[in-house]
Amino acid sequence: MLLPMAGMHIADAQPAASLALVNGKIWTVNEAQPRAEAVACVGSRIVAVGSNADIRKWTGPGTAVIDLGGKLVVPGFNDAHVHFVDGGQNLASVQLRDTKSEAEFRDRIAQFAGGLPAGRWITGGDWDHENWTPARLPTRQLIDDASAGHPVFVNRLDGHMALANSRVLKLAGITRDTPDPPGGTIVRDAAGEPTGVLKDAAMGRVERIAPPHSEDQIAEAVRAAMRYAAEHGVTSVQDMSAAPEILRVYQTLLARGELTVRISGHQPLATWNRLAAVGLHAAFGGEKLHIGGLKGFADGSLGSTTALFFEPYLDAPNTAGLAGAEMIPESKMLDHVLGADRAGLQVAIHAIGDKANHIILGMYEEAEQKNGPRDRRFRIEHAQHLRMDDIARFGKLQVIASMQPYHCIDDGRWAEKRIGPERAKGTYAFRSLLDSGAVLAFGSDWPVAPMAPLMGIYAAATRRTLDGKRPDGWVPEQKITVAEAIRAYTMGSAYASFDDKIKGSIEAGKLADMAVVSDDLLTMPPAEIEKTRVETTIFDGRVIYRRGVSQAGAR
Ligand SMILES: [Zn+2]
Repeated sequence: MLLPMAGMHIADAQPAASLALVNGKIWTVNEAQPRAEAVACVGSRIVAVGSNADIRKWTGPGTAVIDLGGKLVVPGFNDAHVHFVDGGQNLASVQLRDTKSEAEFRDRIAQFAGGLPAGRWITGGDWDHENWTPARLPTRQLIDDASAGHPVFVNRLDGHMALANSRVLKLAGITRDTPDPPGGTIVRDAAGEPTGVLKDAAMGRVERIAPPHSEDQIAEAVRAAMRYAAEHGVTSVQDMSAAPEILRVYQTLLARGELTVRISGHQPLATWNRLAAVGLHAAFGGEKLHIGGLKGFADGSLGSTTALFFEPYLDAPNTAGLAGAEMIPESKMLDHVLGADRAGLQVAIHAIGDKANHIILGMYEEAEQKNGPRDRRFRIEHAQHLRMDDIARFGKLQVIASMQPYHCIDDGRWAEKRIGPERAKGTYAFRSLLDSGAVLAFGSDWPVAPMAPLMGIYAAATRRTLDGKRPDGWVPEQKITVAEAIRAYTMGSAYASFDDKIKGSIEAGKLADMAVVSDDLLTMPPAEIEKTRVETTIFDGRVIYRRGVSQAGAR
């Protein structure tokens, strides 16, 4: 027991902070106190935000004090749209994307195979033979010896072809006599023998026989993904594909105290009645793991000309895109939306083209009319291409626009040849959406794009395309400020997962999740933000990442 010392008021006998951050620029994302110098945490919670002097009152002999040296601190980033295990599996697997030659490609596989338990499949890879000289497709003969008996099935980075070694061709029963399946190609050499490269539908023959990932393999992928998240200051993720076997692994890691990221796991919309049958409400669970929304698909993607538009594609005038299978007929999607909403669950639907967005907004409107007012937080995932009059509906209906700003500077290189300048005005319409009163929740869609919020903030604030051809930004009137982009990546995402009471800002009572950034994002020219880095990541009141220091293992 602490005895009050002379001059110390009895009320000061508060618990000492376990962690204090001092001498910083704290950007709180709390409108009542936007800036501060220092923060005190007790255990997993923030207990005080204020001046250095305010926070010194909380420190004691047991307090870990971090002197920020003037650096910027923001709330831990919350990536509102990831495919966490897919991304982790890519990281945990062989890395082939940056190989510069066939020899390097072969050697990487050999090295990776050497560290694997016997019989384990080698998948992923993301190779790109266009980076090799000559730029020719690899063959099974190139890797057969290197793969040391492991089945190998490594994909090109676009996911439209993969290379199998001879062992996998044998397991899949693919020979010179196997015909090409509809929509697929078995690449053959001059003598008619399969080379190992399988394109599109032909990949399905191998995917059907590849063993499912074990719990241990999924856990390895989650650990790799968590390390990557920590390096980027990401302390919360919303996993759009948390299948039951993945949710189970999350539970195991939670029970072992291994989670270093908070996870909100989405389930397929079509399974809504299972959740409703056990009486779950939106966001059931705890602070580290909860059941997120229900994810449905209204259409495809712009890159594959399957995003659903009102007007045809300029460069593919025979099509205006495709409605997703769940939309055929549309009444099926509507039934899911109405049912899930009536049960008190949250609905999040992927919609990219302007028509897909228009249809889903109409369904959300109908659900609100039929099921009555409620804090439902409907979401549209991507909300990429919007008609101007639909943008206002996001605000009016309070539909969350869950968007991935990095896609804007990536697609912005080529999207206009596909949709033309008029439709481009409502694309990634961050500014107009915020002005309509809608909530923006930012994310990455990792592994489709890097799970790197600083790059996302750069993308939203500059809209400079990756090819450097739009230095003033693609559709520059849709830029938002850095402060608005930070808010979308913190409070906006927290709101989207019903977590805004416990995270999203640095304020007393909230979870102690924060990121220290190398430079002051709010005063530097936005175009330089792409060079900034996360220096330190604090999760649940403890440091889980420091740049340049190998990561402390999870506890
Ligand atoms: Zn996605």
